[in-house]
This record gives sequence, C-alpha cells and structure tokens, in this order.
Amino acid sequence: MSENKRKLIIIGSGPAGYTAAIYASRANLKPLVITGIDMGGQLMQTTDVENYPGYPDGIMGPQMMDDFRKQAERMGAEIKFGHVTKVDFSDPMNHKCIVDDKEEFIGETIVIATGATAKWLGIESETRLNGAGVSACAVCDGFFYKDKAVAIVGGGDTAAEEALYLANLCPTVHMFIRRDEMRASKVMQQRVFDHPNIKVYWNTETDEVLGEKVVEAVRVKNNKTGEKTEIPIDGFFVAIGHKPNTDLFKDILDMDHEGYLITKADSTVTNVEGVFASGDVQDKIYRQAVTAAGTGCMAALDAERYISAKEFELSQKQNAAV
Ligand code: NDP
Repeated sequence: MSENKRKLIIIGSGPAGYTAAIYASRANLKPLVITGIDMGGQLMQTTDVENYPGYPDGIMGPQMMDDFRKQAERMGAEIKFGHVTKVDFSDPMNHKCIVDDKEEFIGETIVIATGATAKWLGIESETRLNGAGVSACAVCDGFFYKDKAVAIVGGGDTAAEEALYLANLCPTVHMFIRRDEMRASKVMQQRVFDHPNIKVYWNTETDEVLGEKVVEAVRVKNNKTGEKTEIPIDGFFVAIGHKPNTDLFKDILDMDHEGYLITKADSTVTNVEGVFASGDVQDKIYRQAVTAAGTGCMAALDAERYISAKEFELSQKQNAAV
C-alpha cells in the first residue's frame, strides 16, 4: 500500500469519528482520522456532559473528546489535524481526500463524520455568554436550569421538542417565535400550547441577551409593534436549526433538501460504494453524542465488512486465474 493510502479514512473527530476510529483500529484497519478545523466537534463548545453513560460524575465536553481521541490513538488510529477541502469518490477502493488544498490521501473506504453546526442568531451577547447561560442544546444543558426560568428561540420541531423538555424541568419557559405561526408539526405545536409552563410570544425577536458574566435576562422586541420587553431568565436556548457539514459532498453523495446525508435503512451505507456516513451529518432527529458514537461504531463495522468482502472477491478472482 502506498504511503498516502489507507484502508479507512475517517473525516471528522467528534464522537462518531473517534468511535469509528476505535472500532476500525481494533479490526486492524489502521484508520487515519482527519480531524477538521474544530477538532473534537460540537462537544468542544459544551461545558458539563451529564448524559453520556460511563461518566457517573459528568465530564466537561472538551475533556470527553480528549478521552475519545486518546482511546482511538491507543488502539492504533492515526490522527491528522487538518481540513478536508476536496474529495473525489469516483474510483472505488481509491477514494481521494485532499487536506488543506495540498496533501492527498487515498482510502479504500471512507467514514464521513463531519457533524452539523447549530445555527445562531448572530448577536453579540449570544456569543459572549455562550456556555454562561446561552446554549444550543436543551437536552445537553437544560438540567442546569432546573427550577429556574429559561427562554427558547425558534418555532420548528426542534424548538418545540426542546421547549417541552425544558418545561418538565423549569417552571417557566418563554418561547420566542418570530412570525405569527410556528413551523413545527401540528401535534408538536399542540403539545407546546397545552403545556402550562410554556409561554409563547408571537412576532417576537431577540434584541439582546443581558448579563455581565452570566445570563440574567433577555430583551425582546415585538416586530409588529416595535415594543421592547426585558424578561428575567437564567438560561437562553437557541433552537433555530442546524446545518449539516456536507458542502464538500454536494453532487457526490445523496442528501435530503436540508443537506443531511442519506444512508440506507439500518446501516451507514451511502449511495457511493465504500463511503459510509455516521453521526449528526446523517441524523437530524436525535443528535446526541451517544447516538453519534453508536452510528460511528456501525460505520466502522460496515467499512470492515465491505473491505473483507472486497478482499474475498479479489482472492477468488486470483485463485480462478491460477
Ligand atoms: P426548522 O428549520 O424546521 O425550524 C427553524 C425554526 O427557527 C423556525 O421556526 C424558524 O422560523 C426559526 N428561525 C430560523 N432562523 C431564525 C432567527 N434568526 N431568529 C428567530 N427564529 C429563527 O429547524 P428544526 O431544527 O426545528 O428542524 C429541522 C428538521 O428536523 C425539520 O424537518 C424538523 O421537522 C425535523 N425534526 C424532526 C423531529 C422529530 O421528528 N422528532 C425533531 C426535531 C427536528 P421561520 O419559521 O420563521 O423560518
């Protein structure tokens, strides 16, 4: 095998990518993990992770990703810091990945684990107070605001689901919707309207999150009347959608209308032979570290089986030729 060729290249270094690396290393595939710019993925932006099994006292997101990386390395994975800027998947068993526009690596198989990025409102205070009361994941961080007042922005299924999740922990959930209707499915809307702890504000946009060191309140503006209101809160959740990191694979891999990679049912198989997808890049429903890790494991097993089948096929051909 040439110096730049590997049996498996994993693109991405979140829970999906590192779990794929651990499984693939144990199957002796000697995988190369190309980390991406945000090495460690979305968990690098979080503080305490309390819902990942195996950490009874919780763990900081960056520490957890460091543990994942160390475990992958100990099993034999090679980690390369860099960003894949171009791919060419036209030659089966020779999938090309160009790193930082200069270095080429070839994988017999590829696992894509490039994740998704939460969309933000783009206001200054949201960035400044990120991790200090501002969050884009209620399931990850909601528990820290148990019995406190919180606010959530968004009117889609994610916002509805997260508002309901928060409403079971918090006495008041202020929900800001920028139009006079919600995008969420009717059944989810009804659950939101029926919950006594959720207060819906229509035509309402966030002006600024307030607080010096931690979130203390939010100032919202009614976009019909122009009226501004300050509401005391402890947690501010943004749930206005995610963008899967799939620009690199446009016109190569099948995606849905939002850009999520499409995999065959009960597998991580994409429409291109030898290319597998795992984690948030192909999951818009669950989006949890533990589910991403689960599909990372599946992708490594799918890649290993694919390689074994190819090697068997090749040995049969060679035997027939003798
Ligand atoms: P969506 O794109 O469906 O909804 C985004 C919401 O955020 C909309 O209400 C949108 O408002 C609002 N929004 C967008 N930008 C801003 C902004 N700058 N300021 C204020 N509000 C803003 O994203 P979701 O993450 O909710 O859902 C993504 C997909 O995943 C959907 O297809 C959804 O059905 C699916 N999903 C399914 C689930 C399930 O089946 N259990 C659970 C979660 C998601 P507007 O409507 O005005 O554009």
